[in-house]
Amino acid sequence: MRHLSRFTISLGLTCAFVMPAFADEPAAKNVILMISDGIGFNGWLAADYYQGKAGSQSYQIARPDGTEPRLYGQTHWSVNPVDENGNLVGDDEADQAAGVVEQYYDPTTRWNRFENTFLNDFAPVGQSYTSYTDSSSAATALYTGRKTVNGRINKDWKGEIDFVTIAQIANAQGRATGAVSTVQVSHATPGAVWSHAASRNSYADIFNDMVGSGLDVIMGAGHPDFDRSGRRLEDGAERDYKFVGGEETWTALTSEEGHNDFAFIEEKSDFEALAAGENLPRKVVGVMQSISTAQSDRSDLDADEANPSGMAFAENVPSLATMTQASLNVLNQNETGFFVMIEGGAVDWMGHANDMPRYIEEQIDFNLAVDAAIEWIEENSNWEETLLIVTSDHETGGIWGEGTYANGSGPAVADPSDKEAIEAARFDPTQDRFNDYLAVQDRGAGSMPGYQFSSGNHTNELVPLWAIGSGSQLFDEARRVDVRAAKLWGNDAAYDWDGSFIDNTSVFDVMNRVLSTDHLESRAGL
Ligand SMILES: [Zn+2]
Repeated sequence: MRHLSRFTISLGLTCAFVMPAFADEPAAKNVILMISDGIGFNGWLAADYYQGKAGSQSYQIARPDGTEPRLYGQTHWSVNPVDENGNLVGDDEADQAAGVVEQYYDPTTRWNRFENTFLNDFAPVGQSYTSYTDSSSAATALYTGRKTVNGRINKDWKGEIDFVTIAQIANAQGRATGAVSTVQVSHATPGAVWSHAASRNSYADIFNDMVGSGLDVIMGAGHPDFDRSGRRLEDGAERDYKFVGGEETWTALTSEEGHNDFAFIEEKSDFEALAAGENLPRKVVGVMQSISTAQSDRSDLDADEANPSGMAFAENVPSLATMTQASLNVLNQNETGFFVMIEGGAVDWMGHANDMPRYIEEQIDFNLAVDAAIEWIEENSNWEETLLIVTSDHETGGIWGEGTYANGSGPAVADPSDKEAIEAARFDPTQDRFNDYLAVQDRGAGSMPGYQFSSGNHTNELVPLWAIGSGSQLFDEARRVDVRAAKLWGNDAAYDWDGSFIDNTSVFDVMNRVLSTDHLESRAGL
């Protein structure tokens, strides 16, 4: 097994396979994968309702040329080194051959018990079994088509074997590649676009992998000179360089000579200039002026009632829409095409915090970035040569409609600043009573939807996936159906969805197929 994997890796990296086009095998020059981190159907709907755009976002409706988006659910389970009872697997050869425990997603048993999708919130201390994935394991599946345990980045469950990522494949084919995020550039989802690490927490190594790789565009947060609200640190203040590869890498990157041929930018106006197409470098690292995230962690700024949270946005960081346009302009200089992953990374963080106003702010920022990507595609490319995938990596917070469960000991919805109230508001099977699965309720544009958080962690709930453009139909080959989920969020209720769902490994599979087929020949053959 191990020998086979190594063989596959070297094959993938040394030969840039371009398959001859078959009559009905779709191909794409460019693939844009947009990930809103940590959001399922209910969270997605919450922001769509707030925007007054449920079912009518740019990626949810037919495009001007008639191209229709396809909507699927997506499963994202990882594998566990222990079973549900906390017993280690892999103690002997037979177990190792069998591998590890797969969490799986079963559309029939999922609905038997409310807390099925967030099981280890109640597990005894010391057991590492979870019924849900983390971001690094999910990213590994999305980018390599391989499942692994939580915490690993593009490595097998033992942390020994490297998996080949879609960015490495695209690079070997001569394409440009990029990773863009609203959180630290070396965080799990952007970091996994190229890097390999036994632990997602080795940020400095992950960043050094990124700037030593074939990536052409790297954009995100993690700037050591700024705090969480975008304020510059005082000269003598202690600085944290880990998200940008350590002090040595940072010094090289920001010096006159630069580092590994990367141009370096940090000012909001620099990102905006690239978004306007001005003075495009071939390779760029953009680290926005925040140590943490673009906006979600800001504090002590002026009031602004126009925002769901009531607080003004930090003004010195770019929006994800700006970074999206900037990255696409840079990558598009490569005539062979490109692969890019663009992440709204802090939706997940606000899901952990059970902070619905800021959760919605982050998802609106993501939605505007998808609008920007679509505008860019329709101006600079088209749906016959570009595939756009809009999805998430897992759900966070266990968001349901108001009244889904009766809280025996705490509030149904808590003030995001009151940590104890948040804890008490979450679902506790020993005290609370589950009523019925309810979708979040629409209270009109500009108003908070009806919602309840049930968890402070990730869940194994289905997340949505919209695919538009060349190759989007390939997802049909791997689909199954969750009829119960379709009744909640589809069947024309909010989204036009029949309950079809695919696994996150199919995202890699489809991207790999469309990038590995000659798109010019494929189009000529049609
Ligand atoms: Zn995530």
